Amino acid sequence: MNTQDYINREDLYGAHNYHPLPVVLERGEGPFVWDVEGKRYFDFLSAYSAVNQGHCHPKIIRALTEQATRLTLTSRAFYNSVLGEYEEYVTKYFGYDKVLPMNSGAEADETALKLCRKWAYKKKGIKENKAKIIACEGNFHGRTITIISMSTDPDARNHYGPFTPGFIIIPYNDTKALEEALKDPDVAGFLVEPIQGEAGVFVPDEGYLKKSRELCKAHNVLFIADEVQTGLARTGKMLACEHENVRPDILILGKALSGGVMPISAVLADDDIMLTILPGEHGSTFGGNPLAAKVAIAALEVIRDENLCENADRLGKIFRDEMKSIRSEMIELVRGKGLLNAVVIKPRNGKTAWDVCLAMKEMGVIAKPTHEHIIRFAPPLVITEAEIREAIVLIKEAFMLFQ
Ligand code: PLP
Repeated sequence: MNTQDYINREDLYGAHNYHPLPVVLERGEGPFVWDVEGKRYFDFLSAYSAVNQGHCHPKIIRALTEQATRLTLTSRAFYNSVLGEYEEYVTKYFGYDKVLPMNSGAEADETALKLCRKWAYKKKGIKENKAKIIACEGNFHGRTITIISMSTDPDARNHYGPFTPGFIIIPYNDTKALEEALKDPDVAGFLVEPIQGEAGVFVPDEGYLKKSRELCKAHNVLFIADEVQTGLARTGKMLACEHENVRPDILILGKALSGGVMPISAVLADDDIMLTILPGEHGSTFGGNPLAAKVAIAALEVIRDENLCENADRLGKIFRDEMKSIRSEMIELVRGKGLLNAVVIKPRNGKTAWDVCLAMKEMGVIAKPTHEHIIRFAPPLVITEAEIREAIVLIKEAFMLFQ
């Protein structure tokens, strides 16, 4: 089978809910992936930042395969010998009393919303069914009905109503709007991405997170950080909130918590919040399974052992400087933090961000446009300086094709 055969088969039997770049991958190692024709690419998407530790990291794969031969799933109906080890490890790692393990990022976001509402009724004293949660325009928290009820993206919402009530949507990066919304005494939480990834890597003004956090505290409202994409070293710190020394009341993690090996997500909070959920009131068959527990410990160890925060911070600066130095009419703006970056594309002679991504693919770098005119550049954080410089040369050559 050649590339086109694989593509045709997916088109024929799979739902058309994605529009992939026409490349068929079959192998990955570190920052590289190979297609079915044997061509090597720099992966500049990293599975939407799930593969921060690089493809098939040997330590994570070892943890996976060793545990896979012992015990994979018991459900939470019973204790297992690994979950407690992971719970202790992850709570100490991030400095919270408790963790609630889930699978996908969306599930973790849903969990955080439920946790926030429980806390609102049991601790804050909001009247039953009245609690509100503030979210931001341009947000991306996943795809469930409740989560898209907070979305302002028509593609995410069209023909999916009716939606879940109880949300107040305010502009992102606007503490005045937050202050205004917080006047409502039924507000229980503020859910925010420290950098809006899917929206196109929108980095808020310095001080936004700190000020928002203070406002929430002053109004007895939970500050809930969705670090599913920004967390785990992606932006040059373990959590993007650390850039402003902010500690969320509820922290949401996913994606790279498994190093891209399987869906693992988590919600972290202290006892006064987390213990408002009682046995039987929330859960997941796969959440906290022993396989995931071992994989997540290994994935977190790799981030620390291999200094991925420092690498992301250092190489991110080099990457942005190099992108800014490209003389191309198509580049409108370069922005980002650490190795979560975006180039905003100005369409030229009918050529768009999609065409640039196709050209980069030919050169050996794969990335994907988000929102048509923005290309996100987010390689695995294990990429070396020599490798990223090699990739930068290829990206520059791709842009030169449109001069
Ligand atoms: N939250 C954020 C900030 C995300 O970027 C994403 C996915 O891109 C999600 C939640 C949803 O994660 P998942 O696709 O694992 O459900």
